[in-house]
Amino acid sequence: MEYRVECIRCGREFPRDEIVYTCTRCKGLLDIKYDYSSIDNEGILKSKGRGVWRYRALLPFEEWSRPVTINEGDTPLYRCDRLAKAIGIKNLWVKHEGLNPTGSFKDRGMTVGVTKALELHVKGVACASTGNTSASLAIFAAKAGIPCYVLLPKGKVALGKVAQAMMHGAKVFSLRGNFDDALRVVRILCEEENLYLLNSVNPYRLEGQKTIAFEIAEQLNWNIPDRVVLPVGNAGNISAIYKGFLELERLGITSSVPMMTGIQAEGAQPVVRAFREGRAEITPEPNPETIASAIRIGNPVNAMKALLAIRDSGGLAESVTDAEITDSQLLLARLEGIGVEPASAASIAGLRKLYDGGEIERGERIVCITTGHLLKDPERAIAICEPPEEVIADVDAVRHALHLHT
Ligand SMILES: *Cc1c(COP(=O)(O)O)cnc(C)c1O
Ligand SMILES: [Zn+2]
Repeated sequence: MEYRVECIRCGREFPRDEIVYTCTRCKGLLDIKYDYSSIDNEGILKSKGRGVWRYRALLPFEEWSRPVTINEGDTPLYRCDRLAKAIGIKNLWVKHEGLNPTGSFKDRGMTVGVTKALELHVKGVACASTGNTSASLAIFAAKAGIPCYVLLPKGKVALGKVAQAMMHGAKVFSLRGNFDDALRVVRILCEEENLYLLNSVNPYRLEGQKTIAFEIAEQLNWNIPDRVVLPVGNAGNISAIYKGFLELERLGITSSVPMMTGIQAEGAQPVVRAFREGRAEITPEPNPETIASAIRIGNPVNAMKALLAIRDSGGLAESVTDAEITDSQLLLARLEGIGVEPASAASIAGLRKLYDGGEIERGERIVCITTGHLLKDPERAIAICEPPEEVIADVDAVRHALHLHT
């Protein structure tokens, strides 16, 4: 596969075998570039593979390498008429990324990122994480047989995610600080200790995540939706998905790109603020706060790419409160049978708010992306639902209790 690694700001090119995450000249983010004229569309349209590697014609890997895979991707796109009706719109689909093998979309990035780690012969992999990145990395590292180190903000990671990271053998550190502190520390450690950094500043991860766009397009018979709505934390996923849609257009497979619409939590909304104020760069939030721990991020590394994606596609950015997130989490669960963790429900909450505010049209064809599974954060699910009613082991007693509720 032919590709180049390039700075998005100054255009500087880096050798494929150099370990580098941001431009050494201007600190800009890096992007993987392909020679699109050499890519055969048939290879994409008629590929026999499944999931992420089905789109290997548009992925960066060396001919000799064997992908580290656990069958990531290939997630369902559900038509959601009951939820659409409740919101007031006509055409809604949910792409449930919580049904990836480890329960979040992070697997799509990690299959490519850990494959790259092996190509580069690194001595181990590392990340800072609000939870899902560490869970996914731990599992791919186990599969690849390489050491994995993860830094989690102390007391701020949902139970299911910590359980996964520990169970699959990562060395887990609980850092006294928030996610942004953890990322700052791990970036320096990786450079100094020859560990491979697999946060979403790593451009290879985003290449895997862009396959969400390919799958949505294919699942809709290559008819691009008008809008894609998703939660934004470190802002890698929205950037990656936009890139995927741009590539399909560039290859002539599709003829438009969706309006990329990013949703943040009210207590952690640097991208939304920069979007509203028309700025190209964010002002970090020193103390981000929200129950949606996966997007509790004050200084998103991919903000510049994300703001480009939102603006170039004519999209929107909006913030939602924790109460709105909880409402939407319950709606998704009860109207559509889709169980998601709080951050994922931000996409639905944002859609509702934008529609109610007159910023989205009723007839738009909209895809919301739900990024992580309900069981990632069981404590939150239990906290927002009515507890089970205790009854004695007697038919009449249970019957009596039952009739009180019917
Ligand atoms: C990582 C994550 C996000 C945020 O994605 P970014 O690429 O950091 O913007 C949102 N939801 C869930 C469940 C996640 O795990
Ligand atoms: Zn540069």
